[in-house]
Amino acid sequence: MRYEKFLAGRANWVKGSALAEVMKKAAELRARGKELISLSAGDPDPNLIPREILGELAREVLSNVPASVMYTPANGIPELREEISRFLERYEGYKVSPEDIIITVGGTGALDLLGRILIDPGDAVITENPSYINTLLAFEQLGAKIYGVPVDGEGMRVDLLEEKLRELRAKGVKVKFIYTIPTGQNPMGVTMSHERRKALLEIASEHDLLIVEDSAYNFMRYEGEATPLKAMDDEGRVIVAGTLSKVLGTGFRVGWVIAHGEVKQKILMEKSPIDFCAPTISQYIALEYLRRGYFEEYHLKRGLLGYKEKRDVMLSALEENLPDAEFTRPIAGMFVMFFLPSGADGMAFASELMEKKGVVVVPGGPFYTDESGKNAIRLNFSRPGKEEIEEGIKRLAELYREKF
Ligand SMILES: *Cc1c(COP(=O)(O)O)cnc(C)c1O
Repeated sequence: MRYEKFLAGRANWVKGSALAEVMKKAAELRARGKELISLSAGDPDPNLIPREILGELAREVLSNVPASVMYTPANGIPELREEISRFLERYEGYKVSPEDIIITVGGTGALDLLGRILIDPGDAVITENPSYINTLLAFEQLGAKIYGVPVDGEGMRVDLLEEKLRELRAKGVKVKFIYTIPTGQNPMGVTMSHERRKALLEIASEHDLLIVEDSAYNFMRYEGEATPLKAMDDEGRVIVAGTLSKVLGTGFRVGWVIAHGEVKQKILMEKSPIDFCAPTISQYIALEYLRRGYFEEYHLKRGLLGYKEKRDVMLSALEENLPDAEFTRPIAGMFVMFFLPSGADGMAFASELMEKKGVVVVPGGPFYTDESGKNAIRLNFSRPGKEEIEEGIKRLAELYREKF
């Protein structure tokens, strides 16, 4: 049977992730019994998540709340929307009505819905370069043309953003929104400075653009300040895609979108036929977790310290073993971006590192919107243990010395 003729036109834009090959190879090696150290995950550490407590909540919710096994409203259970509204006021410093919060299937669900109601095929979207690969793929699958703006240690280069916008305007290209991960950026690990945040909002206002703020790592900040863009927005230009994935665990699939007016209305209409509702059981567990103050007790006061320690172990290991190499120094998030000498091939290095040294890392190239990041390697410090981080970096350094 040949299926091509049945496919929709938009299926032409659906492409697999360039990372799939690397991950497949890792799975094959593991299946053959090879022990691998993974610095590749995009997950929090299951041992820093209070699984016992969550287990108790799950039992309690399933036993006591009949609705927990049922469909619930497409925009989320009202108690959770109210609780998240309080949570955002307390920890993010802005007030939004529970009516403007829509609970989604993770931050991924939020970003997909936003793409669906904002992007027409051919529309221009601005992102950081590099940016989160899953969002790039989601927007490209909807037919968006992505324009990347380079990132440095202070986040998106807003000076280059202005240049890019002027250039696109001169060419008659209509940009609709800017997608940014201002805090603990994936994959760079950098956090946008306050000045850049202010400038970004000003530019968006001047050019009349929306900003989609991906706040996935706002609750994974180890030091420094990072005021959410939404808290600085007095024009309603910022739409937030949020998630509890990095706090509760990526398996819960509880995220949210904060939107107003027609954007909110259209998301609501779009959402129900796609997923009916975000997982109800997860929503009730999230509700109780937040309501009982466990976010503060287990995440802020304990979990974060564990991640900070692991970040420090990774940075020390890099400084010790590769003092002359270039890498980012995150104050938030889960990743360090490491750069091989320019001209080197990150994809080939990652393959060799896995085969020869048993260490899995993620090539940075596929996160870039152009060819500029071929020498980048994304390193995760949230999931592996401290000894694994030390050993993994030591082996990475060995290969690096052998080759460069
Ligand atoms: C993890 C992540 C998300 C959301 O993931 P979900 O598990 O779908 O909530 C969104 N954006 C970035 C940058 C992420 O790293």
